[in-house]
Amino acid sequence: MVSAQEALERLREGNRRFVANAQEANGFPGQTRPADVAASQQPFAIVLGCSDSRVPAEIVFDQGLGDLFVIRVAGNIVAPSQVGSVEFAATRYSTRLVVVLGHSQCGAILATLEELRRPQEDQSRNLRAIVDRVRPSVEALLRTEVRNDPEALWREGVRANVRVSAGQLRHGSQLLEQLIEKDGLLVVGAVYSLETGEVEFMDGV
Ligand SMILES: [Zn+2]
Repeated sequence: MVSAQEALERLREGNRRFVANAQEANGFPGQTRPADVAASQQPFAIVLGCSDSRVPAEIVFDQGLGDLFVIRVAGNIVAPSQVGSVEFAATRYSTRLVVVLGHSQCGAILATLEELRRPQEDQSRNLRAIVDRVRPSVEALLRTEVRNDPEALWREGVRANVRVSAGQLRHGSQLLEQLIEKDGLLVVGAVYSLETGEVEFMDGV
């Protein structure tokens, strides 16, 4: 079993490689062939990331087939199926690190900020379900200093939303709570910079 700390170190190293190779990045990374992992998998980290086309976890962490168990949803929100996916990987594969990966300039955060300014009556119910999950994080920011600075509001909204999602994974599931308390499961937030390719880990890890 790969410990949370070791998994974290692998991700940090992978992201450093990605940033260093970004100029010549081409194609899918990793040496593993599909057949190598066809029979079983042992992903060392679970990543709950945004669906944004510019933030594929395997590429930004320079990992290959079988390395990461990735859940992607617009705005890296946490709904029951995301919690269930994390529970599944953590129990079935003994994966001990969960990263909630937000990113700069996230469209889901911007859409939520716009919705708060100008509520749209005709928005699809399904889209609304995403905005509704992001809303509490950014609403709180509208009561602080950053409310008058659109760039800062967007940036802080991304971070607040990552913090809320990580908190929901830590406390929204008895199973995960037990794994955290007794079995070394670690849930950390992180933000990917579209501008530099760097991942900044939060929560003091
Ligand atoms: Zn996004």
